[in-house]
Amino acid sequence: MIIVMQVAASESQIRGVREVIETRSLKALVMPGGERVAIGIPSAIPPEERESLAGQLGALPGVAHVTHVTRPYKLASREFHSADTVVEIGDVRIGGNEVQVMAGPCAVESREQIQASARAVRAAGARVLRGGAFKPRTSPYAFQGLQEEGLELLHDAAREAGLLTVSEVMQPDLVGLVATYVDVLQIGARNMQNYPLLIEAGRSGKPILLKRGPSASLDEFLLAAEYVLHNGNPNVMLCERGVHPLDRAYVRNTLDLNAVPVLKELTHLPVVVDPSHGIGVRRHVPAMAAAAVAAGADALIVEMHPDPARALSDGPQSLSPDELSDLMARLRPLGEAVGRTLHDPAR
Ligand code: PEP
Ligand code: MN
Repeated sequence: MIIVMQVAASESQIRGVREVIETRSLKALVMPGGERVAIGIPSAIPPEERESLAGQLGALPGVAHVTHVTRPYKLASREFHSADTVVEIGDVRIGGNEVQVMAGPCAVESREQIQASARAVRAAGARVLRGGAFKPRTSPYAFQGLQEEGLELLHDAAREAGLLTVSEVMQPDLVGLVATYVDVLQIGARNMQNYPLLIEAGRSGKPILLKRGPSASLDEFLLAAEYVLHNGNPNVMLCERGVHPLDRAYVRNTLDLNAVPVLKELTHLPVVVDPSHGIGVRRHVPAMAAAAVAAGADALIVEMHPDPARALSDGPQSLSPDELSDLMARLRPLGEAVGRTLHDPAR
């Protein structure tokens, strides 16, 4: 439920609304807006109390109107918060007019590899360096990542190149450690419904890149985001990264681009697309990156490796440095055609 106050509502009238909500043991969330204040009740209201509460609140002085939030997720819903959320990380804004690109290797492998990646990412015009240090690998025999050493290498390479960082955290007790090294915490597709991890991500206060589970519906995805929001962290970015494919013979996943306009309508949170895991085939990544920008994505996260043939993970879907530069050069006019800009290092 949302209580929208009149433009001239006073502090004591806002307090009056909060008191009525809190005496029913419900949480009141005061949201200052440009012109007027809205007060949200993010928790579920017992159905038998809904009408009487709405009536009581609607009659209070200073209240303009009361609306019900019909979606199962509340804080993530556009009904609750109509303006786009812009996640600000340093001087990079995700969810505004500029389409941001995060790029880098699937995994941090060595100092030389991540430094070369950072230089290439910077030269291409991307602002955020990705690099996994804790890797969720399907096989326990596959490279598991350099762990804390990888985070340190990622951090150092990014700072030398003037980039921000994103890296995955897989378990709740490591959220604090990963958060000391990176600017954005990634929650991987396999962990989208790891609720203890989502709760810790909420408490961390760091921007979160939440990836959609390969079989998750959009409601399940938004409810996962709701866990992070509900635990005090408003800076959540939703990442579509492909769902289970019908045709594994040709692609790794099916990038669900339907999700982009549908999510933009359902939620105010920024929408990020990962074309690399989304299709899983290097030569097809640029087409899906372009399609994502055309569909309205706020950011892309793209795998790039200085030497994809030697990558320890996800080489077959990783672009080379030149391919990343070419892609970004092609995305700029495309972005312009749909009313967006992309950072250009030459300007
Ligand atoms: C990754 O970003 O390298 C990764 C493992 O992604 P996902 O969780 O989407 O599979
Ligand atoms: Mn990967």
